[in-house]
Amino acid sequence: MTMESGEDCSVKVAVHIRPLIGDEKLQGCKDCVTVVPRQPQVQIGTHSFTFDHVYGSTGSPSSSMFDELVAPLVDGLFQGYNGTVLAYGQTGSGKTYTMGTGGRDGSQNSIIPQVMNALFHKVKKLKHQAELQLRVSFIEILKEEVKDLLDPGSPGKAESGNVHVAKLAIPGKPPIQIREGSNGVITLVGSTEIDVQTQKEMAAYLELGSFSRATGSTNMNNQSSRSHAIFTITLEQMPKPSQIFSVDGMPNEDMFEDYLCAKLHLVDLAGSERAKRTGSDGLRFKEGVHINRGLLALGNVISALGDEKKRKDGAHVPYRDSKLTRLLQDSLGGNSRTVMIACISPADINAEETLNTLKYANRAR
Ligand code: ADP
Ligand code: MG
Repeated sequence: MTMESGEDCSVKVAVHIRPLIGDEKLQGCKDCVTVVPRQPQVQIGTHSFTFDHVYGSTGSPSSSMFDELVAPLVDGLFQGYNGTVLAYGQTGSGKTYTMGTGGRDGSQNSIIPQVMNALFHKVKKLKHQAELQLRVSFIEILKEEVKDLLDPGSPGKAESGNVHVAKLAIPGKPPIQIREGSNGVITLVGSTEIDVQTQKEMAAYLELGSFSRATGSTNMNNQSSRSHAIFTITLEQMPKPSQIFSVDGMPNEDMFEDYLCAKLHLVDLAGSERAKRTGSDGLRFKEGVHINRGLLALGNVISALGDEKKRKDGAHVPYRDSKLTRLLQDSLGGNSRTVMIACISPADINAEETLNTLKYANRAR
C-alpha cells in the first residue's frame, strides 16, 4: 500500500453513533440524531454537520469503521509512519466500547482487537523478510500526571497474578516523564514498555491495563471518565541479517537504511462533558480543569494541523499546552496519520453534549 501523499488527509474525522442503551430506553428517551441517507452528514435540531464518515444508527455500518479508518494506519506502521486514533465524546457515549479498552467484556468489533488481528496477520507474512519486534505500553493521563497501567505496583493499581510484567515497580519510583529527543521523537521515561511476541500476549496486556484503569476508580469517583487512556503499539523492523550482507559478504549499505520504527497510539479520551457537571468541590473542579486542558489543547492542535493555510504559514501548533498533546506530538501531523472518532449517544437527554461533541469534531476537520 502506498500513502496518498500530497492529498491533505492527515486528519480524518468520523462520528460513531451508538444505539439507544437500556437505561435510555427505560427513561423513554427519543432518538434526536438523524443521518442524511448515504451522506456522512448528521443533523441534530437545526444543526447539520458533515464529516469524513458517519457510522451507526443508519449511517455506514460500524463494522466498516476499522477497514475504512484504521487499517490504513496499521499499514502505515509497517512503512514507518506513526499514527493516532482518538475516541472523543461525553461519558457514556461509547468511547471505551469503540476503542476496546474496556477489558474482558469488550467487543471483538472494537478497534484495538481488530488492530491486533491486522497487525499479526501482517507480521506473519513479513517475518521471513525482516526482523520484527512489537512493543506495547499502556498509560493514563489523569490530572496532568502520567500513570502506568502496566505496572501493577503503581499506587492504587491492581495486582495481577495472571500476566507476567517485565518490569516490577521500584519503590519511590519517580513520575513518568515525557521527553523529546533531538530527532523530535517523543519517549516516555519510566513507563513499562513490554516486548510482545504473540497476539495473545498483546491482548493480555490490553486486558491487564484496562483492568487497572477500571479498578483504579470507584463508583462515586469515576476516574476512567476523567483520564485519557493511551495504548501504544510500537513496531521496529530490521532486515534479516542474510539480507544485510550482499553476495560478496560486504555489508549492504542500503539495508541499514531500512531500519524502521513507528508507533500507533490508540486513545480513549477523558469524557468531554463540562467541568461544571463534575461537581463543585475544589478538588474535582481542578480535575475537570485539567481534563479540559488536554481536550482543549488537542482541539487546538488538530484544528491547527487541519488548517493547511495556517500550517504553510508556519503557524504555531500548541503541542506544549498539555501532557496529552505533548505525548502525541510526534504522532499527530507531519508524516503521521490521525483519526478522530467522535462518539455520540442518540438520546434526546444528551442532546446538549452531543451538539458540543459535534462542534468539537467539526472544528477538527
Ligand atoms: P464511554 O467510554 O464513552 O463512557 P462506554 O463505551 O462505556 O462509554 O459505553 C457506554 C455504554 O454504552 C456501555 O454500556 C456500552 O456497552 C454501551 N455501548 C457503547 N457503544 C455501543 C455500541 N456501539 N453498541 C452497543 N452498545 C454500546
Ligand atoms: Mg469509557
